Amino acid sequence: MPRPLTITIDGPAGSGKSSVARRVAALLGYSYLDSGAMYRALALKALERNVAPDDEARLEALARETHIELHAPTPELEAAGAKNRVFLDGKEVTREIRTAEVAQAASRLATIAAVRRVLVAEQQRAGAGGSVVMEGRDIGTVVFPNAELKIFLDASPEVRAERRWKEHQEKGERITVAEVFDEVIERDKRDRERKVSPLVRASDAVLVDNTAMGIEETARLIVLLAHERQNEATASAGTKV
Ligand code: C5P
Repeated sequence: MPRPLTITIDGPAGSGKSSVARRVAALLGYSYLDSGAMYRALALKALERNVAPDDEARLEALARETHIELHAPTPELEAAGAKNRVFLDGKEVTREIRTAEVAQAASRLATIAAVRRVLVAEQQRAGAGGSVVMEGRDIGTVVFPNAELKIFLDASPEVRAERRWKEHQEKGERITVAEVFDEVIERDKRDRERKVSPLVRASDAVLVDNTAMGIEETARLIVLLAHERQNEATASAGTKV
């Protein structure tokens, strides 16, 4: 039995994290968790209730009283590009959380330490069993700092914006490449420069630049790295006897 791993994939918007992480999980038979979906779901609730993005006390209270669940998508939702089904207090919000407005609101509330504490604890509970691929911004640095395999996924800003634009196009949303580019750059800047858990490459994360690589190629490279880690673990367990 190969040793079950915890695999973390962090990186900026549009780096292909969700598609790659979901494919890696499928190839290894692991579960897949999209931590960004949790920030987005909470942001959607805050928008619906008109909570100001700088009202830290209310946002923390909202995080504590909110129940977010992630499930594997149905084949129909998967064909439409969804990687996880997302339930906010029991109501499905899989599609609603994917707008540029919710993405921006998510990155604003993700700067609040108290909100992060609540969501990080939930992410740690959800991935505690191992055999999991979790993606986000701080998974290898904060959520699972002892993960056996950490990936930092990146791509050029132009390619990342183009990928996001195509996703919006497929959903019939009218937004220009320039608008998507600005949205992605603004969000990355906020995610990289925030004081709490900024987007950084963990010192022991493998940097994978997939500017010129497809999802399948990137996922297979990560699966190879996972097998390598499992072999190393087996070999060192053997020498300890
Ligand atoms: O990954 P996604 O684009 O769905 O994430 C939305 C926002 O949630 C990010 O821009 C980031 O601000 C925040 N986030 C985070 N930490 C994570 C995952 C997402 O701060 N682990």
